[in-house]
Amino acid sequence: MKVKQSMVGLVPYQPGKPIEEVKRELGLEEVVKLASNENPYGYSPKVRQVIQESLEDLAIYPDGYARELREKVSRKLGVKETELLFGNGSDEVILILCRSILSKGDNIVTATPTFPQYRHNAVIEGALVKEVPLVNGVHDLDRMLEAIDENTKIVFVCNPNNPTGTYVSEKEFLDFLKQVPEHLLVVSDEAYYEYVSTDDYPETIPLLKDYPNLMILRTFSKAYGLAALRVGYGVANEELIKAIDPGREPFNTNTLAQRAAVEALADQEFVQTCFEKNRTEMARFEKFCEEFGYDYYPSQANFILMDLKKPGGEVFQKLLAKGFITRNGEALGFPSSVRITLGTEEQNQRIINVLSKLE
Ligand SMILES: *Cc1c(COP(=O)(O)O)cnc(C)c1O
Repeated sequence: MKVKQSMVGLVPYQPGKPIEEVKRELGLEEVVKLASNENPYGYSPKVRQVIQESLEDLAIYPDGYARELREKVSRKLGVKETELLFGNGSDEVILILCRSILSKGDNIVTATPTFPQYRHNAVIEGALVKEVPLVNGVHDLDRMLEAIDENTKIVFVCNPNNPTGTYVSEKEFLDFLKQVPEHLLVVSDEAYYEYVSTDDYPETIPLLKDYPNLMILRTFSKAYGLAALRVGYGVANEELIKAIDPGREPFNTNTLAQRAAVEALADQEFVQTCFEKNRTEMARFEKFCEEFGYDYYPSQANFILMDLKKPGGEVFQKLLAKGFITRNGEALGFPSSVRITLGTEEQNQRIINVLSKLE
């Protein structure tokens, strides 16, 4: 039995190490995972009750159209309900986009390093990936424009970018959008939107009316703290949504996820608190880097990529031995760095304490 040619050589997504596995392997009592940009403060307390109530309904298929969530998100964003596509995480929206749009001979343009799922899904569809190196950790939109050719179908802009946390400004993004040929799709992946604190970050939703070739991706996995439930969405022109919707599985977002997301969305106070704590904790890491002379990328997300001037794998192992799961920069395209998701104050103080004694 052979898989299709485009699958050959692909490896499954390499997630951050699971907590239980590390506890078992290293015989540690307490292990903190700061590897996958999850919310260290959990999720809105309002979610718990709706999950418990929903346990009554597990025998029934979910609402494939996610009607209530759709209504709430459309109202919150000020877009039409028909301008939304929900996915089993925004990962799935990327998959749906790629399977609906890309064929052999097409290509996509992305930055590198960036979020790996753009490449992964495009490759499965037989498309080529044109990768444009970041400059000082930031998307080089001019070079990305130059990389576009007649076979380009999608350009992915990860903003803020994972794994650097850097962002493209409103002006840069608009200049770019104006120059991109209309027949290709620009995807603005805003998984960390809620964490952004800078004023010149692009508000992309109002751009939708002028740019029918723009799609915005958001998720409930990060600031809303619902990563385990898998719900994210795309926002775009309704013709585009209608055209790609058949590429979606009938019941791709589940009942618990939809109801939890409705509650989570309503609790903006929780999101605001997480945002504020994240900024405070970011300042702690920046101060540490400055004190110790380590380079880092200024991050608008809930993680920081720090160059600790040692092989990333070595630092990763040392942190692991102390009960901290982080991301080895070697696997992310930054060999002497680690990417650390910001934890709680107490977790951050502890990991910084370990980092300050690195040998
Ligand atoms: C985490 C992340 C996602 C995926 O989020 P899900 O909604 O959990 O699938 C998408 N894009 C980027 C850049 C991310 O970091």
